[in-house]
Amino acid sequence: MSGTSYTYSQQLMGTTVSLKLFVENLTAVSAVFNAIEQLEDRLTVNRYHSEVMSINHAAGKQPVAVSKLVFDLISQAKAASLLPDSKFNLAIGPLVKLWKIGFNGHSIPEKDEIGRRLTLTNPHHIKLNRTNQTVYLAKAGMEIDLGAIAKGYIADIIKLLLAQYNIFQAIINCGGNVLTIGYSPITADKQWHIGLKRPFAEANNLLGIIHVEDKSVVTSGIYERYFISNDQLYHHILDPHTGYPLNNELHSVTIISNNSLTGDIYSTIFYGLGIRQGLSELKKKQNIGVIFVTRDKKIIIQSNQHFTFELTADDYQLISYS
Ligand code: FAD
Ligand code: MG
Repeated sequence: MSGTSYTYSQQLMGTTVSLKLFVENLTAVSAVFNAIEQLEDRLTVNRYHSEVMSINHAAGKQPVAVSKLVFDLISQAKAASLLPDSKFNLAIGPLVKLWKIGFNGHSIPEKDEIGRRLTLTNPHHIKLNRTNQTVYLAKAGMEIDLGAIAKGYIADIIKLLLAQYNIFQAIINCGGNVLTIGYSPITADKQWHIGLKRPFAEANNLLGIIHVEDKSVVTSGIYERYFISNDQLYHHILDPHTGYPLNNELHSVTIISNNSLTGDIYSTIFYGLGIRQGLSELKKKQNIGVIFVTRDKKIIIQSNQHFTFELTADDYQLISYS
């Protein structure tokens, strides 16, 4: 094994974003972090101003013209929200802002207030006009939230940016969203080795290792952004039908796919579908693989030949459908 690696990190999008390269190219590194900062400025809903916030501020008032990039991401997010049985909903903003899970001031909201906000989360009320490139939220109080998918979208853009610098081997990690580019120059099998985290444990405590080449590995889990009240755990993936955190058998879902936006969309969708329906959907989706980690210590895998998994935790049972 050979190859020197160069790792760079910055705090962005509420997480640590890291980039690992195998050539020293500081121009590329600063281009990457500048691009992420600029994309965050456009997509964030955690500050007063951004392109997405300009849409939210105009809810119930008027359509807002946005850039092609923002329009495209919102179009894809709306399409994912309208898939049959999808619990992904880009209009979930009013509930995310109410619960504040993962932010200061989280609390269990009043039932009536949850009910009131649910009326503001219908994705059909997000009106897209492709010709004018405008987005209109038809009811006052509606809010788009792209927190579930923006990091994947950004990672895919960074892969294209690195290619402009002739960099075809790298890892970008946006906290739970890992995009591997090319093959690994530092492992004997040329595969990237990505750790699958043990839920509710230290970051370096792993359940196993995912081996991939040139793939995105995105995890949606309930063990990082949550709070506990009266012995009940409230996590950040909300059920758009009830307004409460999704309640099922899962601790996390990892999607292995070619591009990271797909992984980000489907990690949330598959979290919502659960194991039985998720595995049946996966038969139609040969372009992705999945790893479910359950509350009762099972790791359920359907690889569709996109990855291999090496179990390291002896208290978990591995069930593989590949
Ligand atoms: P995922 O499982 O991929 O998504 C969960 C997130 O999606 C939730 O946190 C919520 O935002 C949203 N969501 C919840 N339920 C649903 C649903 N049913 N359908 C669709 N979406 C849902 N965090 C900070 O603490 N401070 C910041 O300043 C900050 N800025 C950010 C800026 C950007 C551009 C982005 C992309 C993220 C930022 N974050 C910030 C993090 C953000 O608030 C989310 O916590 C994070 O994106 C969740 O990603 P995930 O991969 O952990 O979870
Ligand atoms: Mg996601």
